[in-house]
Amino acid sequence: TVKRTPFIAGNWKMNLDHLQAIAFVQKLAWSLQDAKHDFDSVEVAVFPPFTDLRSVQTLVSADKLPLAYGAQDVSAQDSGAYTGEISGAFLSQLDCRYVIIGHSERRTLHAETDEVVRAKTAAALKHGIVPVICVGETAEDLEKHGSSAVPVAQLRAALEGVSADAEIVVAYEPVWAIGSGQAATPDQAEAVAAALRGVIAEALGDDAAARTRILYGGSVKSGNIAGFMREPNVDGALVGGASLDVTEFSNIARYQK
Ligand code: PEP
Repeated sequence: TVKRTPFIAGNWKMNLDHLQAIAFVQKLAWSLQDAKHDFDSVEVAVFPPFTDLRSVQTLVSADKLPLAYGAQDVSAQDSGAYTGEISGAFLSQLDCRYVIIGHSERRTLHAETDEVVRAKTAAALKHGIVPVICVGETAEDLEKHGSSAVPVAQLRAALEGVSADAEIVVAYEPVWAIGSGQAATPDQAEAVAAALRGVIAEALGDDAAARTRILYGGSVKSGNIAGFMREPNVDGALVGGASLDVTEFSNIARYQK
């Protein structure tokens, strides 16, 4: 059996400017190092706004901080007349290890379709960045189709054309649980995560399914993280609101304590 390193990821959304980002990342690293966090056994990553990434890169590399970081979106295009877009080539130059793709806020507020998500996934991989592919059902989907159907279809679409040896991360984020304070139960998260692992097996093969990390996201806090992490198919969390508080996020990363 393959060991999947648990992964705690903080999606800052449109919060913290580049000066606040430097202070935050420093405090987070101190907090975790103080607590003797073993970064090899639980990986920790932050996803700041684009304008923070250069500052975060400078800090992480100068202080050799054991934190990973990534962007919240990437263009499907490499370069050219795409005003306001950010190329994966730029992100990879800033040593972004990850990029969030298809967050529900992008799907809803910026009309990102499964086709766009697929193209952005391909763009990330092309530039050597691990896509964190977000899928999840709305409250209406849940009522009409149950919890798995929509996320399963979204992931199938995103994985079209992805090669079997690609490193990806999948985040199951029920839209009704994001920012609502109403998290899914660990059982609900496990059921969908298991179905998503089946999709990975179909699309990329059993080895990929065994090694790919699947995160749960939606109102994760230090008080409920342990329940999710006990589930066999949940390998980590994508955290929004609670990732903006150093102590809270650090406690989520230290869920075993
Ligand atoms: C998110 O936006 O990815 C998220 C999970 O948000 P929150 O933790 O605030 O629900």
